[in-house]
Amino acid sequence: AKKAGGDRWVLHEDGLLSPEEERARKVGELREALANGQLLLHYQPKFEVASKRLAGLEALVRWNHPQRGELAPGEFIPLAEETGLIAEIGEWVLGRAVAQLREWEDWGYEPVPVSVNLSPIELQREGLAGRIEGLLAKLGLPARLLELEVTESSMMRDIDPVLSNLTELRRLGVGIAIDDFGTGYSSLGQLARFPVDTIKIDKSFIQSSREDEPAPIVESIVNLAHGMKLKVVAEGVEDERQLRLLSRLHCELAQGFLFSRPLPAREIEERYWKKSAA
Ligand code: C2E
Ligand code: CA
Ligand code: CA
Ligand code: CA
Repeated sequence: AKKAGGDRWVLHEDGLLSPEEERARKVGELREALANGQLLLHYQPKFEVASKRLAGLEALVRWNHPQRGELAPGEFIPLAEETGLIAEIGEWVLGRAVAQLREWEDWGYEPVPVSVNLSPIELQREGLAGRIEGLLAKLGLPARLLELEVTESSMMRDIDPVLSNLTELRRLGVGIAIDDFGTGYSSLGQLARFPVDTIKIDKSFIQSSREDEPAPIVESIVNLAHGMKLKVVAEGVEDERQLRLLSRLHCELAQGFLFSRPLPAREIEERYWKKSAA
């Protein structure tokens, strides 16, 4: 059934739901997921292009839905952002990621930095930097083990709280990366104003080079970043050819299915820690 000119009605076990009802139901489910421990993090490794050494892990949230199985963030983060629930989800993600770092350190592994994705709403909230400082202090973790990935669009919103959070976080020693670089509309002038140390090139650009030449946009971004003394991470690297082109451009780090999919913490331990901790 369809509402004239509007969104689709959804057939649910409780009956036919209007788009509003369906949305309210989903929000309720997501709240429950948070409360009942249905969210989890997977970690995708990042590697140094030159040495192939493990250089970091990106935390990516998943929802282990009781009926629908494991859901990707694309299926619930947008709704969480629209309803403000992202603030709580973000707190949970940060807390979980640093707790994981603590666990790894306690077990005697030498963890690499973990990156956490922040939505624009979180970055705008006053006191974010202070909360992160408190979290790290409580667990006795050095700030360099945490990196935050923020999108260009979050820098164009309400600029003052964003700038003060980022400045404070950089001062603490937390890494700041601009995610999906090139897909937003930020100007170079804005980029120069923000205290960041890494640029992540969006996977759409990495995957757009079809020849044995880097895509001009990738080359431009790498050169721009290096000119500003920023490190570059290429995301979505799926084959050796893409990696070769990045190596030619002296792109520092790469991440993608060529190396590894995002993995549960236990698998990260099996693959990367157990080998090094002998
Ligand atoms: P992102 O931060 O740009 O993350 C990269 C996405 O690309 C991830 O999807 C990852 O699984 C996928 N990916 C990695 N390597 C490859 C590859 O070689 N090829 C292809 N085709 N894809 C690759 P995922 O996990 O579904 O996450 C999607 C987006 O959801 C993320 O994009 C990020 O914007 C958001 N997200 C994930 N976790 C969080 C979180 O904890 N908080 C917030 N606010 N957003 C999150
Ligand atoms: Ca990211
Ligand atoms: Ca990205
Ligand atoms: Ca993305």
